[in-house]
Amino acid sequence: MMQTRRTFLRTSAAASAGLFAEVLGASPAQPTPEPPRQTEDVIFLTPDDTAYTAAREVHNAGILTRPKRIAMCATETGVQQALQRAKSEGWPVAVKSGGHSFEGFSLNDDGLVINVSPCNELHLDSRTGLLTAGAGCRLRDVNRFLLAKGRFLPAGSCATVGLAGLALGGGYGMFARKWGLTCDHLRSLRMVDGAGTIRDSAADPDLLWAARGGGNGHFGIVTQLTLQTRVAPRAFSSWKFRAYRLNQALTEKLLEAWFDATAALPNDAFSAWIMNGTQVTVLLTTTGAPEEKGVAAFRRTLTALTNKATSAAPVPLTKALPWYYGEAGPVSFKNTSAGYYKGMADLKGALTGIFKEVLTVPGLVFQINTLGGAIADGPDGAYPHRAYPYLGEAQAYWENAGRAADLQAAIGRIRDHIAQAGIDRHYANYPDIAFHDWPAAYYGRKNYGRLQTLKQRYDPENRVRHPQSVRLPS
Ligand SMILES: Cc1cc2nc3c(=O)[nH]c(=O)nc-3n(C[C@H](O)[C@H](O)[C@H](O)COP(=O)(O)OP(=O)(O)OC[C@H]3O[C@@H](n4cnc5c(N)ncnc54)[C@H](O)[C@@H]3O)c2cc1C
Repeated sequence: MMQTRRTFLRTSAAASAGLFAEVLGASPAQPTPEPPRQTEDVIFLTPDDTAYTAAREVHNAGILTRPKRIAMCATETGVQQALQRAKSEGWPVAVKSGGHSFEGFSLNDDGLVINVSPCNELHLDSRTGLLTAGAGCRLRDVNRFLLAKGRFLPAGSCATVGLAGLALGGGYGMFARKWGLTCDHLRSLRMVDGAGTIRDSAADPDLLWAARGGGNGHFGIVTQLTLQTRVAPRAFSSWKFRAYRLNQALTEKLLEAWFDATAALPNDAFSAWIMNGTQVTVLLTTTGAPEEKGVAAFRRTLTALTNKATSAAPVPLTKALPWYYGEAGPVSFKNTSAGYYKGMADLKGALTGIFKEVLTVPGLVFQINTLGGAIADGPDGAYPHRAYPYLGEAQAYWENAGRAADLQAAIGRIRDHIAQAGIDRHYANYPDIAFHDWPAAYYGRKNYGRLQTLKQRYDPENRVRHPQSVRLPS
């Protein structure tokens, strides 16, 4: 639910240490007749304001772009006012929720960022299980709110990822095989489009279609999402299998066994293959029976092939989810989609090259997650990869800035190995600025054409944009 003006004023003053006071106190009165710095619905922060740094912060520490203004919007009206301001100043607009875009697509250098984090109210209809969430909510807040009521929304694992950014690009995690993607749970949404008009998908089904995997920062500012929640699973079981002393042949044999074992997993279960230069860690989780046939067979196979197997006793989700919440950030990293696969055969041509990089360049991680299950039968939407049961991600992390260039170059080589193996489908929520044909990779040609038609309808001046936002039709 959107905040009312009164709650925005009240919570801004109390919760954010008096943002209004800071804004007004920190900067001297403007000599030129600038438009108002704040209204009841929006505060425009300049780089000189104390609150600007936190409002600009994104998860990727390497993103240095600094927008001219950040509009902290608490209501739809505030978003409309911010857009109007951008229009009159001729500024491009980027949209920020949780700030986790790998490439910093929620910031820009020469314009306005509309930050919806003050729109963070949550409401659950206990009769229907429908969650109405402001676009500024983070996954941790959603989990806490729902689990206290015995409900759950399948989403990603990182606590600070924004619900809006995640859902608008797809959204998968340990529960997607059981229930589908986060975007599959979207029932309706509200958006202020690039022209400033409020759109409600209840009256505009094309908007819902686009929001299911093709809605990140292309058409306008989503202010509110309504999603179907699920009854929270009672127990969550997990195992880890670790293999050390890696070499090419051993790693390939292990991966082949992992692909085979995952093919027999029930939809309750999820697995991830996580490899760095010193070890492979295989994660297996399930909300179903630990002794289920496919799960038991998986455990036997991986135990036999790895050096160390550990298990955690079944625990409630309230306990298990925080194990996967990750670092609060900002973090120095370069992550990218490493493509969708149907199985080991798709990846075969790239493996020697990928393994060579990961085994010799410290700081690299190559991860494959299981998709499939209920994702394959999800509703129609812009997300085009339902037939692919595996998604890869290449990651590089560093603390010493001197290592950044080497690691980024290694990620580039992995990208090349993937492309040369003919893997050309990628997850829009794992973007890479270096993907040449990103429209086809993220959406497929047909869906991209439809998204372009919608761009024309919702944002004919291309006001809302980032480097890989949907282009107007030519
Ligand atoms: C540490 C980490 C862990 C992750 N884990 C997972 C995971 O488990 N599963 C998964 O599926 N993905 C995962 N991701 C990827 C994640 O889904 C995307 O980065 C997602 O887009 C982040 O959303 P955000 O709101 O946090 O980011 P932002 O940077 O705020 O936004 C991301 C994109 O969405 C657009 N956007 C944001 N809010 C709106 C809005 N209100 N209206 C219109 N457009 C908007 C932005 O313009 C930008 O293009 C992870 C990313 C990181 C960095």
